[in-house]
Amino acid sequence: MPKDLQTLLFDNSYSTLPSHFYARVHPAPLENARLASFNPAAAELLDLPQETSLDSNFVRYFNGELLLPGSEPIATIYAGHQFGYYVPQLGDGRAILLGEVINSRGERWDIQLKGAGPTPYSRQGDGRAVLRSVIREYLCSEAMHGLGIPSSRALAILDSSQTVYRERPERGAMLVRLAPSHVRFGSFELFFYRGQKQEIGILADYVIKQHFPQIEPDDPQRHARFFDEVVARTARLMAQWQAVGFAHGVMNTDNMSILGLTLDYGPFGFLDSYNPEFICNHSDTAGRYAFDQQPDVAHWNLACLAQALTPLIPTETLQSSLFRFPSLFASHYLNLMTSKLGIVAPQAEHAGLVHALLDLLKHNSIDYTRFFRQLAGFSSLEAAGNNFLRDQFIDRAQFDQWAENYRSVLQQQNLPDADRAKAMNRVNPKYILRNYLAQIAISTAEDEQDYSEIDRLLHILSRPFDEQPEHDAYAGLPPDWASHIQVSCSS
Ligand code: AMP
Ligand code: MG
Repeated sequence: MPKDLQTLLFDNSYSTLPSHFYARVHPAPLENARLASFNPAAAELLDLPQETSLDSNFVRYFNGELLLPGSEPIATIYAGHQFGYYVPQLGDGRAILLGEVINSRGERWDIQLKGAGPTPYSRQGDGRAVLRSVIREYLCSEAMHGLGIPSSRALAILDSSQTVYRERPERGAMLVRLAPSHVRFGSFELFFYRGQKQEIGILADYVIKQHFPQIEPDDPQRHARFFDEVVARTARLMAQWQAVGFAHGVMNTDNMSILGLTLDYGPFGFLDSYNPEFICNHSDTAGRYAFDQQPDVAHWNLACLAQALTPLIPTETLQSSLFRFPSLFASHYLNLMTSKLGIVAPQAEHAGLVHALLDLLKHNSIDYTRFFRQLAGFSSLEAAGNNFLRDQFIDRAQFDQWAENYRSVLQQQNLPDADRAKAMNRVNPKYILRNYLAQIAISTAEDEQDYSEIDRLLHILSRPFDEQPEHDAYAGLPPDWASHIQVSCSS
């Protein structure tokens, strides 16, 4: 049944946890807030129709001027390892959870405001988010969803006239985001390092009850099963990031979702030309979170979570789950990469073909996304039909050798090229959120208060595998000026 903002069914389970798990707070409204973008696909998750954005109180509800009926705003407390070092207390410093809504399918969705003003966990921060970073998170979370990668979702952006100071004065904005849960690895670490063992069990049982229905709440092995599932989901998520060419940029344990979602978008980036050492976060001088480090970092982060769970689960059990990570990751990754190559029945020996191609892309600085999309047109019958690919390579002899191996794999599987092309186009996106595309949407919003480019990108990126010939220009290589874009990590 369609809802409106006044009749959302709130069930605020997090606020039933002990009071030291969160702080009750009130959002602080931004000056002259106005709706910049609204995402009907995310609204549907709350059973809200498109017209919801026309509700005369829409902006007031999400700017914290009015409380949605049933909302009990809180900021949650957590900790985490940031760049390898434990920080004993973090928490929602600028995000406020308005509450949890149950939709008509029985799904639970946190409604969170990001940029809603100071909380007890703001430390030195102002509790605000700038329009630039809000647009990036809004677009990327929906782009990831469109790509089939688990992610928090984004309902709306409010722009404002309020100045927020970063490296330069910018405009403050509010992101309304949704996720089944925002609990992080760091939520568990907080209680472990404080020696609050009982709280670790309370949080684990809470998360199991709300989000892991396949685990029986009275199963004596429930905590072990829970951790094992987090390992599995994280391995799958990492394979998806690597296969699509996504770099998160700040994989601290406070940004790692316990549900295996992509969470907390900061200085993220998608690969343009294939460079495994790509660092999207310019403050990450050591390259801790470089693109090719992500699976190892996730494994390391899972070890931090495992440590926080030692009061609940025997060490050997935790270790055996952790040991599964590399092979789980490798098998998901091989499956995804072979399907990008149109290989129907992947075998371990196909890993060589994948790695040889990645080497080739790297040494010839070939655009990752475009190459895979174009590869659908590869002819398994005649080499001359592949000159459109071959001509992109400097080292053509190396390409010819790879193409020969690829052709022989394809010929063995006996699938018509046209059918393989269709299957490949379902897994190789034509459209990704390249930095320069986000930058154009940001500049027009910042300079002209014109938000139409945000909506256009949202629309295109929600269907990244569709041809959308009218939007061909959005699938192009980055223009020369794009090489000068520096993604600021101050968001
Ligand atoms: P992040 O790296 O953006 O995930 O943020 C790390 C921590 O810093 C989290 O606890 C955030 O809530 C907090 N934080 C980041 N920016 C701000 C800000 N402007 N004001 C208050 N807290 C912030
Ligand atoms: Mg964060």
